[in-house]
Amino acid sequence: MSRIVVLGGAESGVGAAVLAKVKGFDVFLSDNGKIGDEYAQTLRRWEIPFEEGGHTEELILNADEVVKSPGIPSSAPMVRKLREQGTGIISEIEFAARYDSAKKICVTGSNGKTTTTSLIFHLLQNAGLNVGLGGNIGKSYAYQVATEQHDYYVLEISSFQLDDAYDFRPDIAIITNITPDHLDRYDHNMENYIRAKFRITRNLRPEDCFIFDSDDAITVGHLSKIVVKAKMLPFSQERELEEGAYLDGERIVLKVDRNESELYLKDLALGGKHNIYNSMAAALAAKASGISDESIRSSLKSFSPIEHRLEPVLSIADVLYINDSKATNIDAAWYALECQTRPVVWIVGGKDKGNDYSVLLPLVREKVKAIVCLGVDNSKIHAAFEDVVGRANIVDTAGAEEAVKAAQRMACAGDVVLLSPCCASFDLFKSYEDRGEQFKEAVRNL
Ligand code: ADP
Repeated sequence: MSRIVVLGGAESGVGAAVLAKVKGFDVFLSDNGKIGDEYAQTLRRWEIPFEEGGHTEELILNADEVVKSPGIPSSAPMVRKLREQGTGIISEIEFAARYDSAKKICVTGSNGKTTTTSLIFHLLQNAGLNVGLGGNIGKSYAYQVATEQHDYYVLEISSFQLDDAYDFRPDIAIITNITPDHLDRYDHNMENYIRAKFRITRNLRPEDCFIFDSDDAITVGHLSKIVVKAKMLPFSQERELEEGAYLDGERIVLKVDRNESELYLKDLALGGKHNIYNSMAAALAAKASGISDESIRSSLKSFSPIEHRLEPVLSIADVLYINDSKATNIDAAWYALECQTRPVVWIVGGKDKGNDYSVLLPLVREKVKAIVCLGVDNSKIHAAFEDVVGRANIVDTAGAEEAVKAAQRMACAGDVVLLSPCCASFDLFKSYEDRGEQFKEAVRNL
């Protein structure tokens, strides 16, 4: 019996282990850290042997193939050892796709993955298709392949999942955009990061589709250097296109296979320039899947905002509090500021991943009246913006409650308090979800 070892015991690892078990492999799962109770229970329920708090070499190096969770870097000692001895290492999506004949719509990119993936899922589900949602969202793809049956999957895929994918092939691949993020995992080399994202296109066939942002110089620049065999469906807010989606005044024009239709911006549930891009990408994926224009229109209208992404929380004394805790990089915060139409008290800061704040200066000058720093080290934010908003209008805080109270003091009727931190959350919070929850709780307690 062939032996599969899974490294990492969270959502994707446990899903892969269950699938391996269902497919009759000799399975073992190993996690260097602690495995969450629920995951341990799932492993026991499926009678899958596992270990946590360390790796036992004898139980791992005898694998025929290893499924590596995306959180484990390829520089990890055990991964190195496996590579040295020539053991194949694949990601969960690569493994799961071997046993799945459903059509796959796969979304990667720097920002907008979750929003676009959720939009597409909503579009397909509303059109009556039997569709699963997975990847970085919700239940693992492999677990669903093991336990459910779907005709379509919409998968959010990180570049870490793509790093160890080889034969994986989407029917429709989407790159939302590419901006610097997670460069630490790619030797601080932008080219490596771009190439990792583009792995999503490498097995596409002429009958498959590639949907991408043709206003994004990085994406377009890379496309000029490679051959993508699929049908190209670009989207743009800057120029008219022969095929794909583009903005024409207040409407979006969609053109796929010479079939043209339109959507009105006023009918999109999600606001903001970035969500016009996300809606275009989603509409193209739906249209290319044969969903009717009428159904696309009504689904884009009925979609509800996702938690922690420009999520309106409450309006108190005519000050609107918005939770955009998921904005963990400059580009996401740029779009959050860009779509504000009222004066902004901006809550920003956290674990800086090498941010260059200068690109935000024009927007901050135009829209931000005060800044509440929410991080352990706020020096870069002071240096970048103190002169713009004035020293009296920038304060330091070290917790959600303190930040929200400071923002309330600085805001007046008609303003927006926007948590869009530009940074990771790990200096003060467990995760961006935790940061968003604490922010919302503090707002509700005002
Ligand atoms: P991801 O899953 O790629 O992190 P999300 O949809 O969760 O993307 O959104 C993450 C953050 O980026 C949010 O703050 C959101 O408002 C912002 N955002 C969403 N779509 C885009 C886009 N197309 N371009 C830039 N920023 C975006």
